[in-house]
Amino acid sequence: MAYKALYRTWRPQKFQDIVGQQHITRTLQNALLQGKVAHAYLFCGPRGTGKTTTAKVLAKALNCLEPASGEPCNHCQNCLAVNEGNSVDVVEIDAASNRGIDEIRDLRERVKFTPSTGRRKVYIIDEVHMLTDQAFNALLKTLEEPPGHVVFVLATTEAHKVPVTILSRCQRFDFRRIKPAEMVERLREVAKGAAIEVNEEALWLIAKAAEGGLRDALSILDQGAAFAVDTVTAGDIHSILGTVQQDILQSMVKFLADGKTGEALQLVSKLADLGKDLRLFTREMTTFLRDLLVDSIEGRGTGEQISNDNLFYLLKLLVQAEQDMKWSSQPGLVLELALVKASRPELGGSLEALTQRVAELERQLASGTLPRSRAPEITMPAEPNPTPTPPSPSRTDPTEEKVPVTPVNKTIKEGISPEKTSLHVGGEDVSGVVRQGWPDLMGDIKNGKKPLWILLNETKPSLEAQGNIVTLFFEDDFDVRRADKPEYKKYLEWLLGKHFSGSWEVRCVHAKKPPLSTLKPEEDPVYTEAVRIFGKDLVILENDPSETGGVK
Ligand SMILES: [Zn+2]
Repeated sequence: MAYKALYRTWRPQKFQDIVGQQHITRTLQNALLQGKVAHAYLFCGPRGTGKTTTAKVLAKALNCLEPASGEPCNHCQNCLAVNEGNSVDVVEIDAASNRGIDEIRDLRERVKFTPSTGRRKVYIIDEVHMLTDQAFNALLKTLEEPPGHVVFVLATTEAHKVPVTILSRCQRFDFRRIKPAEMVERLREVAKGAAIEVNEEALWLIAKAAEGGLRDALSILDQGAAFAVDTVTAGDIHSILGTVQQDILQSMVKFLADGKTGEALQLVSKLADLGKDLRLFTREMTTFLRDLLVDSIEGRGTGEQISNDNLFYLLKLLVQAEQDMKWSSQPGLVLELALVKASRPELGGSLEALTQRVAELERQLASGTLPRSRAPEITMPAEPNPTPTPPSPSRTDPTEEKVPVTPVNKTIKEGISPEKTSLHVGGEDVSGVVRQGWPDLMGDIKNGKKPLWILLNETKPSLEAQGNIVTLFFEDDFDVRRADKPEYKKYLEWLLGKHFSGSWEVRCVHAKKPPLSTLKPEEDPVYTEAVRIFGKDLVILENDPSETGGVK
């Protein structure tokens, strides 16, 4: 026996089984009981909300040989004929297919014939808004002088596309989206009846994903049952839908609220690697943020500790990103830009700054230099405020707004106390600060671990620090192998923690990089950081960085 989809097997056979549309089913039952059934109905509403199902129950109730309380009996020959889809008196026309056009064309001729077995001939026209003008005209003529034995049920998801001349001749019913709670109840019934084991979380997830359409919900449950090993879980449903678990959405919101841009981008990269659709993910994020905002406004505790303003800001950015992603050839980049902006509200609207930042973070992602561990507490703003400083005397072109590099340098320098230094970590380039403290560190190494000191003193690796990861670049692969020992790395990590506080990770890699002593002024990390934030055009080198405490 061929497999029959759940939504077909479990299609309601009576008015009382139709979920969430009591305002319609009750009216229809009353009309049936009082013999006041209209000759044309228009059923409007979103897909999967029960329009066709209701039309069929109505058709059965009209022709049932043993109706009770306005309900069809479902076992007389007329009811069975409709249930089996071979009733000659109930005609279903799908206006969306070409077949519908021909059927409407000679509808006028055929409606004249009286029903063969039942009392009424029922024409159900699905997606009626798809009819051509010609077909609408043919239909209109029939509706103007309807034979007494004919009932039309026109169903549509887009009532505004139905000509007003047709609308005015129909009794209109608006089907509403089915509420999640109602949907869950029905899903539970169906699952029980079909012997499908499904947990509560999965049921709610299905109900939410179906967005008010029961047919879609049942399809998802169907897939879930086929996919799951035994019990259908939320994880199974996420796999089917390509959506992500709630905790991933929670993590992302937290990263954004905490300004952890690197972690946010890493998460997106991970999702992309897992084959998740980033557009869908963005959509999920907007729904999730919306729910958080509504909960927060209505005073339901979320424990997230994010202000409404911030939630609103994040939501606005992601709604925009979702829109933009539809038209972009690089939807991933659009999302990344939005996440950078979301986690760095201070960056505001400078597209150039954002683009540069994304490019930089992508580079870090690719090279694996982004921090993996939790970032230590943030106590020092390593980034300068991007508002332009007052004009400096060295400016030659008054029309250009240039940011002198000295204040940037100062900002970083002044944040460091000689005793204990806490760095702003979490993906930022803190190479300048670490390089500056390196001679002191070497002093400690000389006393604490002589072999390592000899190695470092001999090979003079160049150094980069991103977030809480310090990378040492050795020119010779052999030196990498000498330095890349757990014992040395642990020691260096401990020492870095002692000098700069927080937890650190040390990596030794083989790469040709200019040694520390030969850095040109343009290679000053402070200068490159400033360029990274403001763009090359906005940053000028005012004086030799070596004189202002830059890299020696
Ligand atoms: Zn019957």
